[in-house]
Amino acid sequence: MATFKEFRNNVKPNWCPGCGDFSIQAAIQRAAANVGLEPEQLAVISGIGCSGRISGYINAYGLHGIHGRALPIAQGVKLANRELTVIASGGDGDGFAIGMGHTVHAIRRNVNLTYIVMDNQIYGLTKGQTSPRSAEGFKTKSTPEGSIESVLSPLEIALSAGATFVAQSFSSDLKQLTALIEAGIKHEGFSLINVFSPCVTFNKVNTYDWFKENIVNLDGEAGEGYDPSNRLAAMTKIMETNGLVTGLIYQDTKRRSYENLITGFKQEGLANQDIKISREDFAKL
Ligand code: SF4
Ligand code: MG
Repeated sequence: MATFKEFRNNVKPNWCPGCGDFSIQAAIQRAAANVGLEPEQLAVISGIGCSGRISGYINAYGLHGIHGRALPIAQGVKLANRELTVIASGGDGDGFAIGMGHTVHAIRRNVNLTYIVMDNQIYGLTKGQTSPRSAEGFKTKSTPEGSIESVLSPLEIALSAGATFVAQSFSSDLKQLTALIEAGIKHEGFSLINVFSPCVTFNKVNTYDWFKENIVNLDGEAGEGYDPSNRLAAMTKIMETNGLVTGLIYQDTKRRSYENLITGFKQEGLANQDIKISREDFAKL
């Protein structure tokens, strides 16, 4: 069985020292090893942005896609080879701005894959502009007098779109993040894990200290009596905490994944090589 070190390759990440993305990479590698995967059983599909580089830093199948399009590619990979564990990854600009249409429909489609958003509340690769996740009043070179747009709440949107797995974590909490990625991989259906990942170079507001002071962690006292199968309670918790709740927020274990609902295309009892799909059937997918 592969160890997490076997999910490393010899490519040195060029993220800035201290960037939260390093820990997310480590958490993916640890989670993949912990669930018993071999590198050739994993595909990491990423979009564009600092975060998008992650697919090149993990020893697995990977594709560094185009801006906002990690999810269509990842869904195609999973439907073409359902034996693969598929992780899609990208930043908040990638997934919640240009890619938001794909994000909402991937959530409601519920293909069995894990989507990890590396949320730094800014555009890092293009040197620090306001993203849909930047706070009102947030000053950057694109909003010199402070952002006047409201902040997008991806967790509320995910729940409204029919998500079956919604979680949030903080890059510094490697233990929680690794456990959530493992749970996301094991979940049947689409799992969204939004991860606060500080951009130490351009975001001087949402820093490591800021998150430590403001996060409400369901793995602590805040989670006592919390039931992640209760969708209304999940929405309430997200709104009460101003979107700063971390942990497993919502999981629906009853709804089947997209691929398990397609007639004649069910996963159970079929090894991948046994599945014969005609061109006509494939065109219907
Ligand atoms: Fe990370 Fe920000 Fe540097 Fe990009 S610019 S690598 S997000 S710290
Ligand atoms: Mg970003």
